[in-house]
Amino acid sequence: FAIGNNVLIIAGTLDGFSGFIHSILMCKAMNRSVTNVLFGAFGSAASDDGAAIDGVMREVSAEDVAVQLAYARQVVFVPGYGMATAQAQHAVRELAEALQHKGVNVKYAIHPVAGRMPGHMNVLLAEANVPYSQLYELEQINPEMQATDVSVVIGANDVVNPDARDNPKSLIAGMPIIEVDKSHSVIVLKRGKGKGFSGLENPLFFKPNTGMLYGDAKASLTKLAQAVQQA
Ligand code: NAP
Repeated sequence: FAIGNNVLIIAGTLDGFSGFIHSILMCKAMNRSVTNVLFGAFGSAASDDGAAIDGVMREVSAEDVAVQLAYARQVVFVPGYGMATAQAQHAVRELAEALQHKGVNVKYAIHPVAGRMPGHMNVLLAEANVPYSQLYELEQINPEMQATDVSVVIGANDVVNPDARDNPKSLIAGMPIIEVDKSHSVIVLKRGKGKGFSGLENPLFFKPNTGMLYGDAKASLTKLAQAVQQA
């Protein structure tokens, strides 16, 4: 790494960490234990509360998603642990640049506990030279979700689980989430039906405005970037 890059990464870590501390304060305000809210199901083979999830998972193709993205006004990327395992941060930036060339407004939503360590997403995106000005914290981006055409969830699961907001019986009830389900359309990039860190099912994947794009996040993003360039 160049020195400038290291500085960016350190700044990213600190910034991510400040988001984490912010979450701790938020939990205090909500009178809940931090471990319960942020790592609600930690260490347990978490099971759902038995309530069946309505809806079906709808699979979408990269070609269809690319067209949707290319004609959007605003696209919000929501990275999670799967972006880290796929090392897909460079591929995200390439897709973002292809979209910007088409006049699409691109933002990244950073959840304070996305990934597996504080600042995990900030560090990876800084490494891929994603402009810092495009990163938005949870409280900044949520009010914009209703005006967002497409949210692209990149290997994230728990941090976009609407049960945390809607189901008081959920093990992650009360955990703040990025409210992707409020955007017009949600595209989820993941390999299959794998659960997130909490082990919980995610009703987001069964909603009518959600499309599942299966595959390794890096491969899917690379396909999307190529298809957007041709769209
Ligand atoms: P997550 O809930 O762990 O979900 C990650 C998802 O990524 C999985 O459902 C998996 O589904 C998918 N995935 C894995 N590899 C992939 C790949 N190569 N390509 C595409 N998708 C892939 O992640 P998150 O939403 O970032 O949430 C973080 C969780 O970790 C939270 O529960 C948080 O509390 C916890 N945690 C965070 C920290 C921290 O400080 N950040 C520390 C400890 C724990 P498939 O298997 O179907 O692909």
